[in-house]
Amino acid sequence: MTKLSADLSGKVALVTGAASGLGREIALEMARSGAAVGIADLNADGANAVAAQIRELGGRATGVLMDVTSEEAVNAGVDAIVEEFGALDILVSNAGIQIVSPIVDFSYSDWRKMQAIHVDGAFLTTKAALRHMYKDNRGGVVIYMGSVHSHLASPLKSAYVSAKHALLGLSRTLAKEGAAHNVRSHVVCPGFVRTPLVDKQIPEQARELRMSEEDVIRNVMLGGTVDGVFTTVEDIAQMTLFLAAFPTAALTGQSFVVSHGWFMQ
Ligand code: NAD
Repeated sequence: MTKLSADLSGKVALVTGAASGLGREIALEMARSGAAVGIADLNADGANAVAAQIRELGGRATGVLMDVTSEEAVNAGVDAIVEEFGALDILVSNAGIQIVSPIVDFSYSDWRKMQAIHVDGAFLTTKAALRHMYKDNRGGVVIYMGSVHSHLASPLKSAYVSAKHALLGLSRTLAKEGAAHNVRSHVVCPGFVRTPLVDKQIPEQARELRMSEEDVIRNVMLGGTVDGVFTTVEDIAQMTLFLAAFPTAALTGQSFVVSHGWFMQ
């Protein structure tokens, strides 16, 4: 794959949920482009391993134990990154999980857990990051990990669809409030990507939808694409890098769907 060339040297990025999947690849890509990167995750060992990998490649990174649903942990983690690297220019609010169930059976505690991680986590990390980005109108960019499910619905995913739609509202509000402080905001909306989050869903959806796992992949996950191909972690990292590096507020408050045509806006 020919990669986008972007210069993030002198920039500091924080990526949540960066011990695995999309967040990990985004963190690696930002570090390759010159940014110092905070690798935040509930999984501290995983976060430290990604940070060590970046340092071995000659980049600058540090692992941060962070539960994005804890205001205290988020504030402490963001402050630790700023303390170590001197600023915060890019926030990628990416941490997330999936729980699938029909609405009628969806437990309220699971519903609240989904909103807490996806929506509260996005709010808390944004609020903590803005304290630094607004200082002297230094500015920055906030990129939320949405989904095709920020724009459409699928059965069994009420909590996920609701949470991912909410990110569009948060991002658009931030685009308006942040402009005076040189802060831009976007939502990246991937189609299905083979990460642990998706691999876990395949047998769960097969059970709920009474289909084979092959049919879940072929019909549910890839049936809506133009070419039957999974989106990759590299595709999403490239999109995120482009938005992080874009130089002006000509691009703000947008959502970018990266899904092999699964959803077209
Ligand atoms: P993943 O399971 O590989 O990685 C998610 C990471 O988030 C894990 O490292 C996990 O430890 C971390 N995490 C979970 N809860 C956390 C919390 N409370 N605080 C901090 N970290 C936490 O999943 P992924 O597929 O890379 O998903 C990343 C994001 O991309 C999610 O927001 C997901 O909804 C979104 N997304 C994924 C796909 C896909 O097909 N994989 C598609 C669209 C959107």
